[in-house]
Amino acid sequence: MVHTRRRDRLPSRGVGSAPAEGSSRSSNAAENPTKRSDCPFCRAVDGLAPAHIVASDDDTVTLLTNAPASVGHLLVLPRRHVTELWSASSDEAAALGRATAQMARLLRDRLAPDGVTVRQNNGAASGQRVAHLHVHLVPRWHGDGSIGWPIPPAEPPDPDEVLARLTAG
Ligand SMILES: [Zn+2]
Repeated sequence: MVHTRRRDRLPSRGVGSAPAEGSSRSSNAAENPTKRSDCPFCRAVDGLAPAHIVASDDDTVTLLTNAPASVGHLLVLPRRHVTELWSASSDEAAALGRATAQMARLLRDRLAPDGVTVRQNNGAASGQRVAHLHVHLVPRWHGDGSIGWPIPPAEPPDPDEVLARLTAG
């Protein structure tokens, strides 16, 4: 039997706690435009740059990426210029989640992939290239290549230590 521990709620404040919801603090995104007109995704959302818009609602826009990893590779983004996931409000994150699920269903229904990879990068170290929060939906077919995951550390991390770092007040 696998021994697991969980906490239902992380502390909202305290040493090492996460920044406030909706905080615009940004650490290491590759590019971080300060003006909406300098952001390629904002320009697409605002209709100032060519874009293949697949769907949109009050909070999100979904478009085809300019550099598709597969046929139907989509990006779901919030309308507001939010750099990373930790800077999104709860409402924005919820809207992003809803739109992501809707777009996954769309891909399944229209393109009949064998699977869909959902990937969301925060910061240059993770592979984020445009500093406007976005979720990748990548239709997948059997045998189409790597699943793309970091190289695991040589020494497996101690789960108790990691859990303590994530949950200690
Ligand atoms: Zn933007």
